[in-house]
Amino acid sequence: MQLMNDKVAVVFGVANKRSIAWGITKALADAGATIALNYQNDRMGDAVRKLAEDLPETPYMAACDVTNDDEVAAYFDGIQREFGRVDALVHSIATAKREELGGEFVDTSWEGYALSQQVSAYSLIALARHARPLMKGHESAVLCLTYYGAEKVVDGYNVMGVAKSALESNTRYLAANLGPDGIRVNALSAGPIKTVSAMGVSGFSSILDSVEQKAPLRRNVTQDDVGQAALFLLSDMARGITGQTIYVDSGYSIIGV
Ligand code: NAP
Repeated sequence: MQLMNDKVAVVFGVANKRSIAWGITKALADAGATIALNYQNDRMGDAVRKLAEDLPETPYMAACDVTNDDEVAAYFDGIQREFGRVDALVHSIATAKREELGGEFVDTSWEGYALSQQVSAYSLIALARHARPLMKGHESAVLCLTYYGAEKVVDGYNVMGVAKSALESNTRYLAANLGPDGIRVNALSAGPIKTVSAMGVSGFSSILDSVEQKAPLRRNVTQDDVGQAALFLLSDMARGITGQTIYVDSGYSIIGV
């Protein structure tokens, strides 16, 4: 019996093979889950469809830009028709204006601040709201991806650090709200991983170097490391865990000076 047999896992945020969401998707699929993916728009759809050929079974795939509530509603209508339930929901999505991932934090614009909050933090609430009727009444779990820059100042992370603080708080409020429905909500705080989004943070290579030098495990984490931790948190093995931020960061976050 595999951990995710008979479970439907909806994963938001696969863009390419470096995406953290792809590491999570592979772990869930290998554990027997039936997978559903999104892509932000039709232009991105071909790349996701090509990548999905590597999965044991063809996943359900549909377009969904999380800033468009009608598209989110239509996406979950599709999931309702196809599967009638959701057991695991992954939010692995973030964005910020490139020029605001570096430079002086005091120069953050309202438009940039609002954009990063909407896509990187608020969308967790929107996805959970639409998924709730399909997750209610059986063991189910929501997971989002956060980073250490939510709690400590990390050079260049700027507006995204503030969005991640909101995301972690959203995780706790959603966990309290949805717990009575049997829905758990947790966040995984991943160490730095070279992805398209991460490369937009100015000075990202020095963050990777710092982990290699200082983290207890003296190495950076991989998409597969995050995938295995996500599998645990989304499976019934974690049935008593909700509202938590769990670190998959080679232990970097425990180190002082
Ligand atoms: P990634 O591969 O670039 O993934 C980011 C995803 O967000 C992409 O699939 C992107 O789609 C999607 N997205 C952006 N705006 C969207 C929108 N409006 N609607 C729907 N999808 C949208 O980068 P990643 O590093 O794997 O990031 C995944 C998550 O992990 C993010 O929350 C990130 O902050 C978090 N995280 C990353 C690291 C790291 O070092 N890489 C560390 C800790 C946490 P498009 O490509 O189509 O825009």
